[in-house]
Amino acid sequence: MQPPEIVIFDFDGTLIDSDEALLAPIDLLGASRSDVVMGSAVAQECERLGISLDDYVDAYDTEVSMPFPGAAELLGELDRWAICSNKHPASASTELDRLGWQPELVMCADAFDWGHKSLVPMLERLGLDADQVMLVGDSGGDLRCAEEVGCRFVWAGWNERVRTHPHSGVVANTPLEVLNYLN
Ligand SMILES: [Mg+2]
Repeated sequence: MQPPEIVIFDFDGTLIDSDEALLAPIDLLGASRSDVVMGSAVAQECERLGISLDDYVDAYDTEVSMPFPGAAELLGELDRWAICSNKHPASASTELDRLGWQPELVMCADAFDWGHKSLVPMLERLGLDADQVMLVGDSGGDLRCAEEVGCRFVWAGWNERVRTHPHSGVVANTPLEVLNYLN
């Protein structure tokens, strides 16, 4: 099999350690963080929890989430990479600016009509077939995105939620280990 042309990453919980940033606004807005399903599309999750999307985005602190150790180094090794995320585009773009990260393509919740993300429109935008991309993610929703189009998938095993729950398939224990699956 040819190496992928591009690596597509989930953002939250895969490149950046953002659980606390994602959950803090839930507390502030009076909902219960134990009800949150991580990896959900932001607008759908806000609606389900009975909070306003605008209030959530206003309360979301874009200054606090840091990359997982090794994530920046991995990105520095890649010729082409992109982000496919369920988060709000305003939050994502502010965080990407702060980190100085410039993915080739970023598609966030607005690009998927605020429903769950999908690689179908991403492949269209990239002009690539499924066998030319690899997705790296930390949630079942990420895996379903890969399965929907039939592309390679690598679990972000550096995320504690992934590490502590057994997953079938390919698991990278550190970001740099993703490089092992590119050839
Ligand atoms: Mg995630």
